[in-house]
Amino acid sequence: MTEKAELEARLKSYVGTPTGPPFTAPDAVNEAMIRHWCEAMGDRLPVYTDPAAGQKSVHGGLVAPPTMLQAWILRGMGMATPSEEDKDAQLEIGRLLAEAGYPSVVATNCEQEYLRYLRPGDRVVAETVFEAISGQKATALGIGYFIDTRTTFRDQRGETVGWMSFRILRFKPNQPAQAASAQPSAPTKPRRLRPPLGHDNRWWWEGIDAGEIRIQRCKACGTLRHPPRPMCGECRSIEWDWIVSRGMGTVYSHVVMHHPPVPGYELPLSVALIELDEGTRLVANVVGCKPSEVRIGMRVQARIELADDEMKLPFFHPAAI
Ligand SMILES: [Zn+2]
Repeated sequence: MTEKAELEARLKSYVGTPTGPPFTAPDAVNEAMIRHWCEAMGDRLPVYTDPAAGQKSVHGGLVAPPTMLQAWILRGMGMATPSEEDKDAQLEIGRLLAEAGYPSVVATNCEQEYLRYLRPGDRVVAETVFEAISGQKATALGIGYFIDTRTTFRDQRGETVGWMSFRILRFKPNQPAQAASAQPSAPTKPRRLRPPLGHDNRWWWEGIDAGEIRIQRCKACGTLRHPPRPMCGECRSIEWDWIVSRGMGTVYSHVVMHHPPVPGYELPLSVALIELDEGTRLVANVVGCKPSEVRIGMRVQARIELADDEMKLPFFHPAAI
């Protein structure tokens, strides 16, 4: 067998098998975690945090936001430093592919379905199975393998409360074109990932191309919203127009991305949630200072600049105060 056929045969042997033993949530569904989540997400639906509102609702008590499903089983910082006892086949596959020359990983798809609301006191148990592993694929990021897992979430009685399918790509990053060529030529900057464009967001990207950060505005009640979506979350009107942001804002939260290397992105990279002065937030890079110098509360100013040789993005620079 060739090395590639051998690798693919080993990958295929995982399909249909669990990634590890069922994992029981470290904490039962609880009000403190629900409250923190709602604060972080800006979800003010009373039925999650106000016991009186919960009592009066169809639920007859507090419930957890369905989108918290995965939060109950996240392992925290332990995930970053797995021990030998962690028999996690996802780590095995990661090591196998890294040794075979596919060191990078990116999540590409996630789908969830919620079958019932979780309530304080419920205890979630999750079991993850490898659903499919693709043959070798050529992608815009590089050559690699797609790995699909499906996680089933059950409660303390063994009843399924929801599921999640998750797809990652483990890949060999594309090298910039000039590295492979002996011909002297102007270096081409690798292209950044493109946003999927559709009816609901194309107008926003056209604004960026025109040098404007647009903010969608409800025509009925005037509420601003971002990211773009068809309906107002306040009054449910589907009539909207937009305003143009002044481009001034504040760093609301941020991370520094060190890994994995992805063509088109220079690491370390500051990825920040910017609160525009108009009130909406957007995710963007902070440039013009070291990523380690970015601080929550820092005043920033947008400039729409080329991210590669073609695509424009809003970048935020420290504001000249
Ligand atoms: Zn509205």
